[in-house]
Amino acid sequence: MLPMTTANPTVLLDNARHLLKTVYGYDTFRPLQEDIILSILQGCDTLVLMPTGGGKSVCFQIPALLREGVCLVVSPLIALMKDQVEALRRNGIGAAAYNSSFSQSELREVIRQCQSGDIKLLYVSPEKLLSVVPFLKEQLKISFIAIDEAHCISSWGHDFRPEYTQLHSIREVLPGVPVIALTATADKITRRDICEQLKMKEPAVFISSFDRPNLSLTVRSGLSLKEKVSEIDRFLKIRPNEPGIVYCLSRKNTEDMADKLKNIGYPAACYHAGLEGSIRNKVQEDFLNDRLQIVCATIAFGMGIDKSNVRWVIHSNLPKNIESYYQEIGRAGRDGYKADTVLYYSYGDVVMQTQFANDSSQKELNLAKLHRMQQFAEANICRRKILLNYFGEAVIQNCGNCDVCKNPRPMMDGTRLAQMALSAVSRMNEEAGGNMLINVLRGSANAELMNKGYQNIKTYGVGRDIPYADWQQYLLQFLHLGILEVAYDQGSALKITNLGKDVLFGKQTLQLSELVPISFEKKSSKKTKATAPSSDNENNTPEEKLFQLLRTLRMKLAQQDGIPPYMIFSDATLKQMAELLPTTAEDLLTVSGVGERKMEMYGNDFLETIQSFLQQRVDAPKKVQKGDTYKITLELYNQGLDVETIAAQRAMSATTIWSHIAQLAEQGESIDLRKYIPKADEERIRKAVEEVGNGNALKPIFDQLNGEVEYHKIRLTLSLIKMESQK
Ligand code: ADP
Ligand code: ZN
Repeated sequence: MLPMTTANPTVLLDNARHLLKTVYGYDTFRPLQEDIILSILQGCDTLVLMPTGGGKSVCFQIPALLREGVCLVVSPLIALMKDQVEALRRNGIGAAAYNSSFSQSELREVIRQCQSGDIKLLYVSPEKLLSVVPFLKEQLKISFIAIDEAHCISSWGHDFRPEYTQLHSIREVLPGVPVIALTATADKITRRDICEQLKMKEPAVFISSFDRPNLSLTVRSGLSLKEKVSEIDRFLKIRPNEPGIVYCLSRKNTEDMADKLKNIGYPAACYHAGLEGSIRNKVQEDFLNDRLQIVCATIAFGMGIDKSNVRWVIHSNLPKNIESYYQEIGRAGRDGYKADTVLYYSYGDVVMQTQFANDSSQKELNLAKLHRMQQFAEANICRRKILLNYFGEAVIQNCGNCDVCKNPRPMMDGTRLAQMALSAVSRMNEEAGGNMLINVLRGSANAELMNKGYQNIKTYGVGRDIPYADWQQYLLQFLHLGILEVAYDQGSALKITNLGKDVLFGKQTLQLSELVPISFEKKSSKKTKATAPSSDNENNTPEEKLFQLLRTLRMKLAQQDGIPPYMIFSDATLKQMAELLPTTAEDLLTVSGVGERKMEMYGNDFLETIQSFLQQRVDAPKKVQKGDTYKITLELYNQGLDVETIAAQRAMSATTIWSHIAQLAEQGESIDLRKYIPKADEERIRKAVEEVGNGNALKPIFDQLNGEVEYHKIRLTLSLIKMESQK
């Protein structure tokens, strides 16, 4: 393996590519991944800026596998650390998280495994690193140090963590060991700060594009809450079971939104800092494990989660700046598969956010940032161009995946509309706010309006043909174009600007963009009706049907193993299976995301589902019964074969056969499950089930039993419990 630094780059990259395929199941590196890997393998200090979902992990994991010794990974969140370790193990890579509650013997065991090369990556929290490294370095060769979320080191960044500032002293403790810092968010100052604080020596800096082409961008303005909810309903109907997040401005908003969605039949929960910790954890866990489809959350949600199959993100209100917006939509589609984002904003949001900004300590800065956010939402040019330009990437091409690109907005002469509004504002002595203005224009008869006598002004009711929501959108354009402004210090009253006066007195014309209704229908599913209610609707293509079957299988396997479904295979991988229809192990290995270890663990289950799907299509008129696979198992069982033999004969995993047996028993077949569970084990399992308090997941129960009782016994005992409760 050594010396890496002098090895030929071509050879190094061949090795890296080989691992990418065999371990992760991917055919090609993404842009910059190769360069970064090479830089680390050559022993350079390296700084990596890549957006969330860009594929940073592979950049240090592959060098860790290729270099002699163990790589220390510093990561700020314990939950994420555990997730990453679990994901690595699923790919057959030895990894562990150093934990302060380790006993002496556990620590010795980890060190032994590092020495033998069984563990190649050791995750450590920043607090622990400095105390444990002097000890580790006595016994281990440390290949390099990877510092994830490196922007946490800088007080200029938005997520400063004091623990990170001590990291610089690692350089003295481990002289000559290269450091690689990775982050998804760092402006120039933060970037420099990271390099300086970590005392990086002539670091190689890699900045990848921040574009996330798989995210669609849509902005909708001026809808009432009711209209918003009904639009979200239409949006969700054509995305059955697809997990997503609705971001709301306040705690109260999250609760309202979750209630509204629940009322129209969607599994939704709210998440905000005011909830009890245990409730928050449950929501997060359920979402992570695909047991809960929708979370309505304040921005607090998402920091500590690593769910790669979030298929959509909706902002129910205008975010305070583009950075937050981009970070929040970035939680969708991390698996690289297409995902949708929708931003709703209204006149009320602008007023509210402006007030927040006014009251904040960095008032000027925050107002300026809010203004940029507003410009983005109002824009008539490709939204992705605006975003990327904001982050300093010059882009000329239109993206084709935002609402502006998809529905180019024709312009119209808006002078008369503007004059109606300006005249009304003037006649109300510039004392009224936006909602009152619209009510006057539309000739509404509400009490406040009557009290003020506004029904008597000349422009009362001149705009009653235009719906309220459309007026709201025009009003936003008026503000944005600068003919009106809001006096936040005078109860948000509207004032006419100099430009506005020119328009009012006919010295200047005004171009507005036409309001175009946007449909949420998916382009890909040609004939899907917007009202199609569920996954089994008739318009589903065979691919979609198979995809749903594979998802169900993934869910079942995940529950058996007590891990989140995306850790088995990503949505993108399942989609590819549904398209390529692999029927042999060899074929399956060509699917992106299927590495050797996962093939071994899950391959047969997925192949079987695909085969039986194909079979059903061939024998369509005969309609192969769904329960056939169970029947075959039952037949073999009745012939007196044991589970291992049945598994071997059917080319399935024993785990699958055990689950067939359990299912068959639950369906009333005469199978004595107790035959397989010694009395003492059954009692221990039952106790553990009570302690863990979660009916379905096997892994927590397995852990509760310190791994001393086999999975299949737990699986069967759960069936016993279920059958008792059904009696
Ligand atoms: P980050 O840490 O930058 O947010 P991850 O490392 O979690 O992103 O990667 C995001 C997703 O992209 C993961 O599902 C990962 O397996 C996948 N991925 C990474 N590199 C590649 C590649 N070269 N080809 C295909 N998928 C990849
Ligand atoms: Zn675009």
